[in-house]
Amino acid sequence: MSRLAVVSGGSRGIGRAVSQLLAQRDCRVVVLSRNEDSARDTVASLQGDGHVSFCCDVSKEQNVQTTFEMIQKKCGNITYLVNAAGINLDTLLLRTHPVDMVSVLHTNLLGSMLTCRAALRTMLHTKNAAIVNIGSVVGLKGNAGQTLYSASKAGLEGFTRSLAKEVASRKIRVNLLAPGFIWTDMTAWVTDERVRSVPLGRFGEPEEVAHAALFLLVSPYVTGQVLVVDGGLQLAM
Ligand code: NDP
Repeated sequence: MSRLAVVSGGSRGIGRAVSQLLAQRDCRVVVLSRNEDSARDTVASLQGDGHVSFCCDVSKEQNVQTTFEMIQKKCGNITYLVNAAGINLDTLLLRTHPVDMVSVLHTNLLGSMLTCRAALRTMLHTKNAAIVNIGSVVGLKGNAGQTLYSASKAGLEGFTRSLAKEVASRKIRVNLLAPGFIWTDMTAWVTDERVRSVPLGRFGEPEEVAHAALFLLVSPYVTGQVLVVDGGLQLAM
């Protein structure tokens, strides 16, 4: 296996599907999440050998630092990083507690910044390195009741485009995926009525997002882009 792929939030949902697809494509996969058992469960589901999991809270600088040092020591330099770790705390801004603001921003935005920074150090030593951050159509379009979440995802778009410019000379590519409604634990609250507002008339599957992530990882002339995977939802927003 020649490519090492790190997937934050790889224990469930979209990150788990990305991990499974990358393993099928001959990558050695490192799965990160806060819950050790579910990360291990993902690793057990991966095709091939050599995959590992680490318990890592991406919102904690020291935790990220130590984890990436361990990854390099145990597995070597990183070729791919997919930032799928994320949380949503959906409520109106007037009802939002500042603690929740910090929590969402630290996980969704700061978390990706920290993992990118830690991974870049080792990506400088690999060929065809690429990063995919997972944003959201809500970050592009906004949504009432999701001010925190959309701010964190919109921030990720600016971060992605800027980082793409910053590291292009080192031949490292950075892109953003913006999913719509995807069937995972995160969307358990979404009503049938909302689903009917999707032009394609259904939720997306995590595997469908994973294929888009793979496209961005392996496309050598694509960087600084946002790829929307939403069944046309953005057209109706
Ligand atoms: P899930 O809730 O199914 O999975 C979230 C993953 O993130 C879990 O593996 C979770 O593991 C991990 N995670 C959460 N917080 C942290 C943290 N602080 N440190 C490390 N890992 C963490 O969500 P989805 O798969 O649906 O979402 C994946 C990404 O896609 C998120 O960024 C989300 O915002 C985005 N997205 C999802 C959409 C959807 O419709 N599902 C739509 C648009 C964007 P653990 O709890 O063990 O830490």
